[in-house]
This record gives sequence, structure tokens and C-alpha cells, in this order.
Amino acid sequence: MRIRTAIVTGANRGIGQETARQLAAAGLRVIATARDPQAGAAAARAAGAEYARLDVSDEASRLAFRDWTRENAPQVDVLVNNAGIYPERDGNGLEADLEVIRSTLEVNTFGPLRLVQLLAPLLVTGAQVIHVSSGMGQLSDMGGASPAYRISKTALNAVTRILAAELAARGIAVNSVCPGWVRTDMGGASATRPVEKGAETIVWLALQGANGPSGGFFRDKQPIPW
Ligand code: NAP
Repeated sequence: MRIRTAIVTGANRGIGQETARQLAAAGLRVIATARDPQAGAAAARAAGAEYARLDVSDEASRLAFRDWTRENAPQVDVLVNNAGIYPERDGNGLEADLEVIRSTLEVNTFGPLRLVQLLAPLLVTGAQVIHVSSGMGQLSDMGGASPAYRISKTALNAVTRILAAELAARGIAVNSVCPGWVRTDMGGASATRPVEKGAETIVWLALQGANGPSGGFFRDKQPIPW
């Protein structure tokens, strides 16, 4: 049987590295991507994964990664768009710097969209695309502050819905996940969840077969409102 291949972005630390580790432990060939080659290769090795360079916000890097994947892993079963930023200067909407919003969208929203565009020809029937989103992007629970991060994750959820509709005919699932508040560099030391729990629902979706859900938003393996 063909060994399934998973790609995880932003896998040099945090939820991305843990997702790579859990998928490798489940027997998948995992390509752990990161923008820094040294940190990326070391983290990939520790996770039992292979390393490939990818800065999700840089078109030249995205194209180079597409070419590398076409050459080295032409059948992709799982794509986890995990890389993300929570910008430091993301105060209130009323004073928001549009440049901060723009640069956050480049990583958190356009990066995942562009990567799916480029890798779509390599995704097999039954493939799973997972967008690591956030409860902070839920319109049903939207509050003030952190406009760049919130807007980028709400828009990422829109990307999930659009691509789920467009890829359904090929039997490819696209879902969003909120990992909860996780102890990583982004989540901080006070966060309530260990990284293993943060990766759990991502891995659960990644291992769904062809009949798994698509176009949904999940936390703790349960659908949550948009
Ligand atoms: P983290 O520890 O800060 O890790 C973020 C990862 O994204 C790092 O590997 C970072 O790589 C990578 N990254 C950032 N910009 C990149 C770029 N342009 N190209 C490639 N990689 C890039 O954060 P985390 O908590 O693991 O976050 C992972 C995902 O979960 C994010 O999408 C985040 O929004 C989401 N999330 C986290 C929480 C939480 O509580 N932690 C809650 C909800 C959602 P570098 O080392 O190169 O910067």
C-alpha cells in the first residue's frame, strides 16, 4: 500500500511541530516545512519528519516548494496550513494600522489559499486540507481588539468554505480547526492546553477517510459555530 504523505507548514515549533510528530507516529510520511532551514531541519528530525523550506508569505518560496513537492512527493494526502502569526501591534480596531492587518493576512490567510492553489494538482482523491484557525475568528463570538488576527482568521474560515465547495467534486475535504488556547510561543505560558491537545483535532481530521466531514469548523473533534 502507498504510504500517505502529509505536509505541515510552520512545523519548526509549537502546534505545527507537534502535528508533524503525531502524523509521523501514525505512519505517514511527513514533510515538515519551516522558513528557517536550521531550526526547521532540527525540528523535523525530532518529529520523525522530513524538512523542506517554505516561507508561506513569500511567492518565490511557495513556487520553489511546489516544484520540490512535485519532484519529491507528487501525491499529497494531507495539507495542514498551520503557520501563523499574532502580530505584536494588534491593539484596537479603531486605531488599527492597516499595514499590520495586511502583513498578517499575507501569512495567515493568503499563504494558506495560495498553497492550496499551487498544490491542488498534487492532492489525491480523499485528501484532507486543514486550516489552523482560531476561535478569535468566529463571527458568532466576535469581540473587540486584535483586529489583524481576528480578520485574518475569519477570512481564513471563508477560504475553507470556498475551497471545500470547489474541491468537493474531487473528493477533497477542507476544514478549519481551532486548537484552543495552547502553551506555545504564541499562546504563552498561561495557556490552558498542552501542545499535544492543540494538535489532537488537526490530526483527527487529517486521518479521516474519504467520507470525513468537509467545510466545517472544529474544536475538540466537535463542530463549532462560524
Ligand atoms: P507558534 O509557536 O508561534 O508557531 C507559529 C509557527 O508559524 C512557527 O513555526 C513560525 O515559524 C511559523 N510561521 C510564522 N510565519 C511564517 C511564515 N511566513 N512562513 C512559514 N512559517 C511561518 O504558534 P502556535 O501556537 O504553534 O500556532 C500555530 C497555529 O495555531 C497558528 O496558525 C495560530 O494562529 C493557531 N492558533 C494558536 C493558538 C494558541 O493558543 N497557541 C490558538 C488558536 C490558534 P518561525 O519560527 O519561522 O517564526
